Amino acid sequence: TIEIHNLRIRFGEREVVKGVSFKVEEGGSFGIVGESGSGKSTVLRAMAGLNTSWMGRIAFNDEAAPQHRTPDFFRKVQMVFQDPYGSLHPRQTIDRILSELPLVHRMGDVDQRIARALSDVALPQSSRFRYPHQLSGGQRQRVAIARALIADPRILLLDEPTSALDVSVQAEILNLLSDLRAERKLTYVMVSHNLGVIAHLCTDVGVMIDGQMVEQVTADDLRRGNVTHPHTQELRRLS
Ligand code: ATP
Ligand code: MG
Repeated sequence: TIEIHNLRIRFGEREVVKGVSFKVEEGGSFGIVGESGSGKSTVLRAMAGLNTSWMGRIAFNDEAAPQHRTPDFFRKVQMVFQDPYGSLHPRQTIDRILSELPLVHRMGDVDQRIARALSDVALPQSSRFRYPHQLSGGQRQRVAIARALIADPRILLLDEPTSALDVSVQAEILNLLSDLRAERKLTYVMVSHNLGVIAHLCTDVGVMIDGQMVEQVTADDLRRGNVTHPHTQELRRLS
């Protein structure tokens, strides 16, 4: 279970997340939509323990998150970013990229883990010896997902995981994420501009404007138009 309660984040004088609360049940999938700059990525980064200080409560399975990323706490919570090119080290082989977390956590079976992670994301084992630029965008995003999965997380935080990809590849990655969630009993929080993407993968949706989550609805209600906030209606009209 993920519990976010009254999360507040400021950069200097500016508060960009203004008291956001939501819960996600174990195995659930929560989508965050909202206009550019509304604070979606900032919420996700705080949940992943990345480089922001925050106020409020972030808890995973009733265990409150510390302010800064401690490897043990956050092994269970991994993030996948929008641009797999930017998030994979260009001068490291896929093998090296995938071995990093298992080594940090002193996991013994690194080789087997890499083999399994590659097969989980349907990449050939020969990808181990390639560099990120030798793969397609979709393959790179598969590597980023494999890296997120390799240390057996319980929670994946997905920030626009398909928006850098073309439409047919988007569908492949969404199906992969959907299968992985079922197989590995993962809990997802996903940010996307695309309501179709959210509807495909999420059971519940929160709508953010200007640092606040102004509405939370089920994905079914969103699909049916059962929404009350004008901004949510506007998002549906535009999609
Ligand atoms: P997008 O849909 O464009 O990705 P977003 O909803 O993810 O937008 P955030 O990236 O969370 O928005 O940014 C929220 C606000 O916080 C923006 O105004 C942004 O400029 C500001 N911001 C984000 N990171 C920082 C930072 N490290 N320092 C200062 N301001 C920041
Ligand atoms: Mg963002």
